[in-house]
Amino acid sequence: MHFPKPSPEYSDLKKLNEDWQTVYYFQSRRFGNSMGINLLGSDKKICSFNCSYCELGTTEIRMNDIKKSDFFKDPQILLNEITQGFEDAVNIARPVDAILFVGNGEPTLYPDIEVMVSKVIELRNQYYRGVPTGILTNGSHIDSRKVIKAVSDLDLRMIKFDAGNDRTFKKINSPLVKDNVEKIISNARRIKDPILQCCFVQGLSDNTKTEDIDEWMEGVGMIKPEAVHLYTLDRIPAMPGLIKVDEDTLYTISAKLEKRTRIRAKVFY
Ligand code: SF4
Repeated sequence: MHFPKPSPEYSDLKKLNEDWQTVYYFQSRRFGNSMGINLLGSDKKICSFNCSYCELGTTEIRMNDIKKSDFFKDPQILLNEITQGFEDAVNIARPVDAILFVGNGEPTLYPDIEVMVSKVIELRNQYYRGVPTGILTNGSHIDSRKVIKAVSDLDLRMIKFDAGNDRTFKKINSPLVKDNVEKIISNARRIKDPILQCCFVQGLSDNTKTEDIDEWMEGVGMIKPEAVHLYTLDRIPAMPGLIKVDEDTLYTISAKLEKRTRIRAKVFY
């Protein structure tokens, strides 16, 4: 079966050989030589969303299952693997331009995320001082003290924001938890300098209609992010019937956003 290139979001942020280690490496157009930290194991994608365009496939694990105490990898095992990953990288003088919590789903679902963030910052200070740390998140769980602290302690916070109304949010992101646009906006406003990651698609799910863009721009204006990144499909998505939007559409959305909010969006195509 032929698979086209990964979408910009995950071509930047996913290990392409599908073999999810706790520490892995990938090349990113935005971040350069990147060290990925995957807290979610290698078996199945673990996420609270089921985005129509997700290149990891559909979310099959129910939220109730992930609440079981033995569901996630033991924190001490992860800490050892992360430490070993840094030491291995240093031993071969691997160049690292960014250290990012990404991987096999939504990183903030890991119950001890704050412990992992703290350890990664400590190791970064020891081995890769000056290299930025960051996270790619769907924004749904930035409502507890420990997740807010963990996300805030990192240098870069990339939050998904594809829709400004609940109807389109449900169609595009299919949250598996009680969630709505108001909550995502409120969560994004809790943290300093969020960078919004906004994927636009057409076909069976479409978030590019005039009213969708209007409401999305309103949401972006309320969040007041540090930056906005626009992109579209570049790989077979989880849901069939989605169509990649053309480059002009992304630039038109970017221009409209700047005119309305004075926030400049960067297009990745
Ligand atoms: S939030 Fe990310 S990992 Fe989760 S379904 Fe959406 S694209 Fe996939």
